[in-house]
Formats: sequence, C-alpha cells, structure tokens
Amino acid sequence: MTAEEGADTVVAHQTAHQAGPDVDVVVAGGGMAGLTAAATAASHGATVLLAEAGEKPGGAAWWSNGLFWTARDLQTYRRHIPDGNPVIAERIIAGMDDALEQIRALGVPISAHRTDPVMAIGAGHAIDIRALIQEQEARLRRHGGRIVTGARVTGAALREGAVDVRISSGGSEQRVRSWALVLATGGHPSSWPASSDLADQPVPGVARRCLLHSRGDGLRAGRELGADTAGPPEGVYGHLVPAPLAEDWTPASFVRLSQYYSDAAVALDLRGRRFADETLGDEVLNQALLDHTETARASGDADAGTTTPPLAVLLFDDRVRRSRATEESYPGLGPLDRFAAAVDAGGANLTAEDVPGLVYGLAALGVDTGTARTTVERYREAIASRSGIADGVPVTAEADPLTEAPFHALLVQPSVTMTFHGVRTDERFRVLDRGGRPVPGVFAAGADAGGLQGRRYAGGLAPSFIGGRTAGLEAARLAASAQGTRR
Ligand SMILES: Cc1cc2nc3c(=O)[nH]c(=O)nc-3n(C[C@H](O)[C@H](O)[C@H](O)COP(=O)(O)OP(=O)(O)OC[C@H]3O[C@@H](n4cnc5c(N)ncnc54)[C@H](O)[C@@H]3O)c2cc1C
Repeated sequence: MTAEEGADTVVAHQTAHQAGPDVDVVVAGGGMAGLTAAATAASHGATVLLAEAGEKPGGAAWWSNGLFWTARDLQTYRRHIPDGNPVIAERIIAGMDDALEQIRALGVPISAHRTDPVMAIGAGHAIDIRALIQEQEARLRRHGGRIVTGARVTGAALREGAVDVRISSGGSEQRVRSWALVLATGGHPSSWPASSDLADQPVPGVARRCLLHSRGDGLRAGRELGADTAGPPEGVYGHLVPAPLAEDWTPASFVRLSQYYSDAAVALDLRGRRFADETLGDEVLNQALLDHTETARASGDADAGTTTPPLAVLLFDDRVRRSRATEESYPGLGPLDRFAAAVDAGGANLTAEDVPGLVYGLAALGVDTGTARTTVERYREAIASRSGIADGVPVTAEADPLTEAPFHALLVQPSVTMTFHGVRTDERFRVLDRGGRPVPGVFAAGADAGGLQGRRYAGGLAPSFIGGRTAGLEAARLAASAQGTRR
C-alpha cells in the first residue's frame, strides 16, 4: 500500500469478508520495533496492516547511530540495571546472534568489529541502519503486508476474541478488527518528571523536541486494554546538547551535537554545584541533570527555574578537547570536534588560560561563581588525595583533573530520545495485565514495552528489533491458531 492509500481503503476492502477480523495483525507504529514485527508476522503468513502516524516508516532509527547493541551478558545487566526485568533482558541478550544473522541475511552491512564496551555495560555491532529500515519495509511488502502512513492508532478494545483497533486517518476514525495488535508507537512524551504519569507534562525545552516520535498512544491504548505498566516513569535516554540551540536546529543534527565526552568533564549546575559522578557516562549525566533540576524545582529552589530547560556547564581542559571531544565517539560516527560543533550551533561557551579565569568567566553563562570556585577546588583536591568524594558526589579514579591549558566551558541542556516507561510484557512480548495475565491478542515492542530499561539504558535498536520480531512471530501464530490453521 502506498502513502496515498488511507485506512478507509483497508476497512472497505476487508469488510467484504464480513465474518472474521479485517486483518490478522495490526501493528501500531512503523519504527524499528513495528516494522520488524510487521515484516515478521507477514513472512509467517499473517495478513498485516502497519499503521504509521508519520509520513514514512522508520521512526527514530532514521536519526540513530545504527549501533546495534545491548548488555554484554546477564550478569553485567543485573549489576548495572538492578531495577530492570532480567527475564526480558535474557531474551534480548540471547537473541542478539540470531538477530545479527537475520540482518546479515537481509543483505544489510554489519561491521565485523564488535564494539565493547558500549555505554559501559554493552556490546554490539555498527549496522547500516537505513538499509535495515528499507529492507524491512521491502520484506513486509513482499509478503503482502500493507503500510498506511498518516494513520494514527488512537485506541483499542477487546471484543469477542479479537481486537478492535481505532485508527485515525485523514480526519476520520476507522475501526479495524484484528486477531492481534502490536503496540510499537515509540514510548511516551511525558516520562519526566517522575510524577507526570500520562498528564503530558512537558519535558522542557530541547528535551521535548528531541523526543522524536513519541506521543504516548501505545501506552494509552495498552492501559485502555487493561495493561499493567513497567519501567521507571522518569527513565529516559538522551545526551547533553549545547544550550541555547540555534533556531534552525533539527533532529538530524542531534548526533552531531551530542557531547559524548562529558564523562571527561566537570559538570556544574547553575548554582555552581556538581550533581553526579560524571564518569558514569554522558547518557547518565543527561538523566541526572533532568532529575537534579526537577528535585531542585520541587523543593522550591527559585534558581532552578520553571520554564527554561535544565542547564549545566561542562568544564574541561584542552587535552580533553583535543582527544575525547574530537575522537570518533562510536564506530561509524567519524571524528568530529564536538565542542566546535556545539559552538557553531549556538552553545554558550568560554575559554580561559587558567582554571580560576575559567571559573570567574562562568558568571557570563549564568553560574554562581563563588560556589563554583569552591566546588572545583574540592573536586581537584579529591582527585589529588584520591578521597573518592567531594561535596558528597563521587570523584572516581577516572575523573579528569583539569590540568592542561587552555580550559573550556560549554553550557548544555539534556535531551530525550527514548523513554523507559511502557506497558508491561513477558519475554514473549505479550502485554500483561495487573494480575500478570496476558491481555489476549495484544503485544508490545520497542519503547512501548517497559521492563528492559531501568534507570540505565540497555540499547534501543537491538531490543526493538528482537522484541518486534518476537511479537510479530507470536502475533502471527496467534492469528493462525485463531483461524484453526497452522502456519
Ligand atoms: C539520535 C538518536 C540516536 C540513536 N542511536 C542509537 C544507537 O546507535 N543504538 C541504539 O541501540 N539506539 C539508538 N537510538 C535509539 C533507537 O533509535 C530507538 O530506541 C528505537 O529506534 C526505537 O524504536 P521504536 O520502534 O520503539 O520507536 P520509534 O522509532 O519512535 O517508532 C515509533 C513509530 O511509531 C509512529 N507512531 C507514533 N504514534 C503512533 C500512533 N499512535 N499510531 C501509529 N504510529 C505511531 C511514529 O511516527 C514512529 O514512526 C537512537 C535514537 C536517536 C533519536
């Protein structure tokens, strides 16, 4: 089906069959999870309708780095993500080799080099992600699957052993009856702050714009069907990006602007205080800044602001700038001067010949320099004495001592590219209700499926692919058994 065809066509065509559902499987959302679920279900003989709200399938994966990874092993996963669901993690970790094999079989280039570590806990391979999107779409069409673009799944209900899915397209709403529904709409827009539930609390500033495709429809539909939820409501993945950003900033420049090297910087809030162990990694610092600012706002700290995005400054020396800030952060990204890219994009910054001069100049970036001076002194003392802590915040053996002139500062804000809270599933990606029972005929994958991610991130593309594949297979089997045939 082409983009011009709407949901009306599907319903009109299918209602001619009257007796059974209009289609075996409806997939809500055509990102990595939904495309994979749809292609898998179709290749196992199911009739499939993929409803994609956007103009084309692919979702966030179009903007991604294409690093196909998850936790290296279950032990590492448990150690770093104790609040995650180990049963789901085991399914994803065990599915990696098979997934890579399938991607290879589709003719998609995969780097021979295994990247390890990824984000401290994982391992994986760089893949040609755009080729994978195109191949999955082609595979779906080859097996007779239909893709309807501009079609938003707005809800669903269980009725007489099947799922009635509501799809809004071209200003009207249609009902499509299916044996199975796969929720893959890419997470929800309001997972921060923690208390926000589905109230559409805005993620401030750039963070909201970085959350590329999520509207929360999958989670909303899941709840309507009686689903339980899983994963920390406030959990997000993203990276620190410069602040302020030029108006012409687009999601396509997100990877270029990510300040991956912040683990080698000293990060201060606008009060001049450190708020996290920087060496845990940029994605952890990104979330820590969101949490920290929210905590400050909740406690009535007027300086935390209410409408501006959370802000911090990264301080680093020229050695970090020449090495970590310019090297290839992940395979395939290529070397890039990320500080220069941030400055070009409008990021407030400053360079000074010594550390006192840098700290003094921070006033121009809105930082309380009195507190910042003390914080930096204590941080450097902690490194020299190896005490491991300064002002209650860890200073690890890897912490960077700020030694080589000139010294740099960059104003940054957090971003959100994926949320961690979704509907609860089992390892077969069947959606579960509050009693732990499968909601009949309903599956979820990718960011819509909560459980794998805890406060830390265990990869997006590979879990979406493996979860989507599992959900698609299960959905096709369910449809086949509902029809009394074997596929
Ligand atoms: C810049 C960037 C870099 C990244 N790099 C990596 C990386 O290198 N490695 C990695 O593992 N992960 C990476 N990720 C994360 C990864 O891309 C995502 O985790 C993954 O693509 C999520 O897939 P998804 O299918 O769950 O959701 P999405 O990709 O968000 O897809 C959801 C789709 O559903 C559609 N949709 C939304 N609502 C509805 C609705 N109601 N009805 C129908 N359709 C709907 C959307 O338009 C979208 O196409 C990156 C993400 C970003 C943004």
